[in-house]
Amino acid sequence: MGRDAMLAVIDAATEAVRAAADRLTDLDRAVGDGDHGTNMRRGFDAIAAQREALAAMEPGDALQKAGMVLVSTVGGASGPLYGSLLMAAGKALEEGQEPAEAFAAGVEAVKRRGKSDVGAKTMLDVLVPLAEALKAGSPLAALPQAAAERLAATRDMVATRGRASFLGERSRGHEDPGAASATLLVEAVCGALGGQPDSVA
Ligand code: ADP
Ligand code: MG
Repeated sequence: MGRDAMLAVIDAATEAVRAAADRLTDLDRAVGDGDHGTNMRRGFDAIAAQREALAAMEPGDALQKAGMVLVSTVGGASGPLYGSLLMAAGKALEEGQEPAEAFAAGVEAVKRRGKSDVGAKTMLDVLVPLAEALKAGSPLAALPQAAAERLAATRDMVATRGRASFLGERSRGHEDPGAASATLLVEAVCGALGGQPDSVA
């Protein structure tokens, strides 16, 4: 992936997070502590501040660096989780794995870090099906719709991981904030890449 494509991805992701920050915070107010939008905006503002340096790197290095930025700037659980995703995916890319495999490696890292999997009403309810779709050869253009469907499905789930799990049954009836941020990031990245699977690498 060239410099311009990397800048486009960084800018689209940052813009999407900034635009949705209030909505993410509202979702987190319902099932958590009301900081998910602020957390994500802080992390992506820090990534945006390094956009030129990141775009000058190899994609694998840039992903690892962006992951480290998230871990070091985001206070909440989502920082280490998204950080693990980017760092593991970047490492896999650097080692020569295909983009779909690299994304799957990132999602496995989130599972390990969060001691979680699908069905716990978390970002993994969006990320795991996306990794499976990518590995099955789904075009990038189909992913936003798939993510939106998985996000909608978190509404009826009871959280068993993260702060929302403290609410038990009362977590039902609200979409998961992390699943919502994962969905908007997928929309932004797929949009910026223009639906060209080959452009990921
Ligand atoms: P915090 O929960 O520390 O306030 P955020 O509000 O930024 O952090 O992020 C909350 C989101 O993180 C949740 O909506 C959920 O998607 C995700 N999350 C929390 N704990 C876990 C976990 N153990 N595994 C996977 N995702 C998790
Ligand atoms: Mg929170």
